Amino acid sequence: MLAAAELTALAERGGSPVGLRPVEGEDLFYILFTSGSTGTPKGVQITADCLDHFLDWSSQLGEGFPAEAPRVFLNQAPFSFDLSVMDLYTAFYTGGTLWTLPKEVQQDAAALFSSLERSGAQVWVSTPSFAEVCLADRRFDSALLPDMRLFLFCGETLQNATAQKLHSRFPGAKVINTYGPTESTVAITQVEITPALAAADEPLPVGATKPGTWLFIAGPEGEDLPEGERGEIVIVGDTVSSGYFGRPDLTARAFGTRRVAGVEYRLYRTGDKGYLRGGQLHYCGRLDLQIKLHGYRIELEDIEQNICRLPGVRGAVVLPQERDGTIRSLTAYVAADWPGERGFAASQRARGELAQFLPAYMIPKKFVFLDALPMTANGKVDRKALGGLAR
Ligand code: AMP
Repeated sequence: MLAAAELTALAERGGSPVGLRPVEGEDLFYILFTSGSTGTPKGVQITADCLDHFLDWSSQLGEGFPAEAPRVFLNQAPFSFDLSVMDLYTAFYTGGTLWTLPKEVQQDAAALFSSLERSGAQVWVSTPSFAEVCLADRRFDSALLPDMRLFLFCGETLQNATAQKLHSRFPGAKVINTYGPTESTVAITQVEITPALAAADEPLPVGATKPGTWLFIAGPEGEDLPEGERGEIVIVGDTVSSGYFGRPDLTARAFGTRRVAGVEYRLYRTGDKGYLRGGQLHYCGRLDLQIKLHGYRIELEDIEQNICRLPGVRGAVVLPQERDGTIRSLTAYVAADWPGERGFAASQRARGELAQFLPAYMIPKKFVFLDALPMTANGKVDRKALGGLAR
């Protein structure tokens, strides 16, 4: 290992340390461990090329930033979560500044708002859940963050109501939704959520692909589905990971290759469900959140989306309740600003309002009202913790 002073001296002489060479091309740049659905984390290998292609795109998001005035990025995600690559590396790449919000600060409202006030942040990068936590406090607006120009979201469904609140509290800022798994290097689609899009009575799209990436929607046999049909989202392109570290078995299952315009690219089968319409990807939840209840096929996220359409609801998770290995009913965990309403009255209200949008078999039997939904260390809604609550 060379000391910093030695490295600086070498760089000044234009030399390169013996045995060291630049990390480039197919060299591994980082490995991020994501929780596997089996409970064993998987190490996602990201190459230098993947990161380069991602940064070429992420540094342009929102546009209109003068090159001579480096941006201040806000960091919410822990560095073990790939969302942080969006702020950490994009800040490095553009010569900007990173303002981090350590976990202890995020958990203490006074410390959080004091830190935000001092940040000078212009680009916000977080999960929608974290933005909702901040929006729950009236102080979260453009007076607190006067330089805020761009909200970038990834990792979870962005609700229309969240975007609408941001538009009204930060009239000078753009809201951009992005989508992607760690296996395709943070994000591969983007769309600006305009006030008109947020006001439309349908879930928000997650956007169009970045250059060098193509999306296919696969049917049950892996066949390409036509525009508009729902299936598994398959990502092909220049930011797809080279596979799982030390796990050729898992790599072979999820990854492959596909030729596009005469060039062979890596391919990743996401396990996410979605459809394409007019070049925009619409995310419809995980394939593994599809259940059968009394013979009906139900997408849990479909119910959650509809609960989130009810006025005053900030977030919702629906979980199946099993007995003897069979799903018997559904429980909804709801964070709502329904003053004074909790138990029976609130459940009746939710059921009544949901009946406008959902068939009876999709309306949860039980409703649990919470001040806030629990979050994982990454700032996403913690479905597992809610599962524990049910027992
Ligand atoms: P991670 O690898 O931890 O970044 O998680 C990736 C997963 O988060 C994706 O496979 C999706 O299931 C989900 N996800 C990412 N972006 C979005 C988005 N914009 N809307 C909804 N879900 C998303």
